[in-house]
Amino acid sequence: MQYNERPGGSDRYVPQKQQNFSEKILDKFYMLSDILYPPVCPVCKRPLLFRQGGGLIHPSCYARLHKAVPPLCMKCGKPLKDARQEYCYDCSRHRHSFESGHGLWVYDKISSEIVFLYKYGGKRELSVFFASALAQEYGAWIRQIHPDILVPVPLSREKMRSRGFNQAELIARRLGDEMGIECESRALVRVKSTIPQKSLDPGKRQENIRKAFSADPAYLKGVKRVLLIDDIYTTGATIQYCSRALRAAAGARVWFLTLCIGAPF
Ligand SMILES: [Zn+2]
Ligand SMILES: [Zn+2]
Repeated sequence: MQYNERPGGSDRYVPQKQQNFSEKILDKFYMLSDILYPPVCPVCKRPLLFRQGGGLIHPSCYARLHKAVPPLCMKCGKPLKDARQEYCYDCSRHRHSFESGHGLWVYDKISSEIVFLYKYGGKRELSVFFASALAQEYGAWIRQIHPDILVPVPLSREKMRSRGFNQAELIARRLGDEMGIECESRALVRVKSTIPQKSLDPGKRQENIRKAFSADPAYLKGVKRVLLIDDIYTTGATIQYCSRALRAAAGARVWFLTLCIGAPF
C-alpha cells in the first residue's frame, strides 16, 4: 500500500490516483464535514486530521492489519504454517466448487474489530477504504482471473432489513467501480433465513448453509467467470455453497475475494 504524505504532516492513508472533478468536490465536502464531525481512525480511534482523497485510517494503523502472506493454501488462500504444504487441512480433504480465492487480512483482533465497526457501528464509509485496499493488493490477481461480474454474498431479507445494508455488496460495488467490472448483486439470493449458526452442531450448520443460497440464471446470462466478494472467510461453507449455486445455474467458474481470512483448522 502506498501513502501520500500531506505536506505539513497529515498522515491519512490515501490511495494513489489522480483525482477527478467529483472527487475534488467530495474532498471539499469531507473537509467541511470533518470540521463539524471529526472522523476517527477505525483502528486506534484517535481523530483523523483533514481527510484527503478519502483517507480513512492512519498509515501506521494500516500497517497493524496483518496481511495474509505466503505460504498460502493454493485453493482457499489461508496462511499455512509449513511452506512445504500446498493446501490447508480443509482443502486437502474436501473438494470445493470454487477455483481458488484470497483473503486480504488475517482474521484477528484488529481486523475483526474494524469489520465489526463497519457492519454494526454505522461506518459504511469504510467500504471505500476496504475496496481500495483490495484493488491495491489484489487488482493484478483480479485482472488475471478476468471475471465477467463481481457477485457479493447476499444477506437474507430479514438481515438486510435489520442491518440496512449488505456489507459485501457495498465493497463489491466500490471494487467494481475501481476495476471497471460490473457488480451484479441479484445473481445470488439467500433463499432461507438461516437459523443462528452458533445454535447448531457442525453437521446441521453445513446443512443450514447449503440450503440458504440459490442463483438466478436471469442475471447470469453469458457469465462464465464470477468473482464472489464477502467480508470474512472462515470455514468456507458460505463461499462453497454460493459457488455451487452459481455453477449449477450458469456453469460459471467461481473465484472469491474476502477482506479477512481465518487461520487454517
Ligand atoms: Zn489510527
Ligand atoms: Zn485451503
